[in-house]
Amino acid sequence: MTKGPVLLVTGGSRGIGAAISLLAARKGWRVAVNYASNKAAADTVVSKIVAGGGEALAIRGDVGDAADIASIFEAVDRHFGRLDGLANNAGIVDAPARVDEMSVARIERMMRINVTGSILCAAEAVRRMSSRHGGNGGAIVNISSMAAIIGSPSQYIDYAASKAAIDTFTVGLAREVATEGVRVNAVRPGVIDTEIHASGGLPDRARDMASSIPMQRAGTAEEVADAVLYLLSPSASYITGAILNVSGGR
Ligand code: NAP
Repeated sequence: MTKGPVLLVTGGSRGIGAAISLLAARKGWRVAVNYASNKAAADTVVSKIVAGGGEALAIRGDVGDAADIASIFEAVDRHFGRLDGLANNAGIVDAPARVDEMSVARIERMMRINVTGSILCAAEAVRRMSSRHGGNGGAIVNISSMAAIIGSPSQYIDYAASKAAIDTFTVGLAREVATEGVRVNAVRPGVIDTEIHASGGLPDRARDMASSIPMQRAGTAEEVADAVLYLLSPSASYITGAILNVSGGR
């Protein structure tokens, strides 16, 4: 039997990343589930995929650390021997703050994980998938945010700026590798009901913001995963450099 294509999902163990990992497996991808520290969550996602007849591997590694990124991709090489897709999903927020309250350490951490980490992961994927490097092509989907458009004043404009960088990176990389068999797109989630809001000190944020969303509800991780899997699929073969809002009209 031919083995399925291989997808690496950074931050694939919880929230949107977990939904991407699980849906990808149902669609026939073999999945590398990256996580930073919560091994139990990653193992749960892998177990669910294996129970459904799929193949998955949990890989620890902090995308805010260049050496860890190299080792994540080496683990993918060792276990699967190929790479066909990257869901560049790992990302963080921080506690609500005005810019005049933000420390250097906070801003540098935000940019290191959300921007540098995503760019370095995409670079590793290009080295494996681009025909320029002898690869068979593939697709990258970056996870941006509607914060890139809204700016998130008095909440986390550092986060919003990091996601605006992802938008620009998506367009540029898409054009850079367009003739090399690699498509690059992004999804901009709006307010999605995951644990990221609690990690920023606002556990009720998704519920509290519902009335400000045109569709009057937060989105689910599964609704974001649907868009990501579409952009990764051959159905999106002529789509590159696109940024798809998944935000209930926000
Ligand atoms: P989440 O529920 O907090 O899950 C984050 C995931 O990323 C976990 O698997 C976590 O692993 C992993 N992770 C965190 N830092 C990492 C690092 N340095 N290296 C590797 N993995 C790391 O987040 P989410 O809500 O699913 O968000 C996923 C993406 O969507 C992020 O890029 C976020 O900015 C974006 N987004 C989310 C929303 C929303 O409303 N939820 C809206 C717009 C955009 P551990 O558990 O091991 O730490």
